[in-house]
Amino acid sequence: MANIMFPPAVSALLAGLSLAALSPASLADHSWGGYHWARTTSQFALQLGDNMGGDWKPFLYQTSSDWNNNGDTPVLTSVVDGTSNKRCAMVTGTSQVCNGKYGYNGWLGLATINIVNGTHITQGSAKMNDSYFNLAKYNNPNEKLHVVCQEVAHTFGLAHQSENGESLDTCMDYFSNTGANAGSTSSTRPNAHDFEQLKIIYTHTDTITTVATGSAPAKPGNRPDKAVVDISDDPRSWGRLISQSANGRSSTYERHNPDGSKTVTHVYWTEEAASKCRSCDHRFDRHD
Ligand SMILES: [Zn+2]
Ligand SMILES: [Zn+2]
Repeated sequence: MANIMFPPAVSALLAGLSLAALSPASLADHSWGGYHWARTTSQFALQLGDNMGGDWKPFLYQTSSDWNNNGDTPVLTSVVDGTSNKRCAMVTGTSQVCNGKYGYNGWLGLATINIVNGTHITQGSAKMNDSYFNLAKYNNPNEKLHVVCQEVAHTFGLAHQSENGESLDTCMDYFSNTGANAGSTSSTRPNAHDFEQLKIIYTHTDTITTVATGSAPAKPGNRPDKAVVDISDDPRSWGRLISQSANGRSSTYERHNPDGSKTVTHVYWTEEAASKCRSCDHRFDRHD
């Protein structure tokens, strides 16, 4: 079949038309690598394992409710008893959510997912670092809700809408609810664009499922390869640095595992860690 060639002016016009024809939803573009949970239904419930201390629990329940509160959103969440601990070992088919004093290592929040077959998420974890959240600067409800909302949503397969510190009024940005903005509730919840992106990511269904179902989540250590696909508190276990925001507050690491799976980690650095050297790999900086 012969290709139909248009003169340049017509091609430009057609290109303009096709852009104009895009729906607003298709402009959403903050999928995290196309990663998603495999499931056979258009809507599914992801278990969020609650390993949180009492002061954090309200924020986990709030963000679970916020992510559920959008009509036919494909990713529903349910908070279930944690089967992990502060170490936040991943549990197949679930996202474990934890807080703890992980030390003055430069990070506020950490989200990790394990990937099989290129894009399918099999398990996730989200950690909040109390070593910083116990400090006056970060210890306020808005900053806590912002970070837990973002780390949990990374385990759905969402990335950031913005990384330059502006507020798009989504928790998937890097607005800082600290200092003069400590009382601001901006960026503590998902916005419409996040739900559009989830619909795009989950518009197809799969023939298999990687999501745990039923009321009793699988126990940790239920995979013989558990030790090789999880990360530890040692940042060298995150693998290779593959991307970092210009302001140095957001980094992504990736590790290829012996079983063929991939472990991907999003790190939310403190402003202090990022500002020392914005293009450095902050894992190996001295943080104090
Ligand atoms: Zn799929
Ligand atoms: Zn993030």
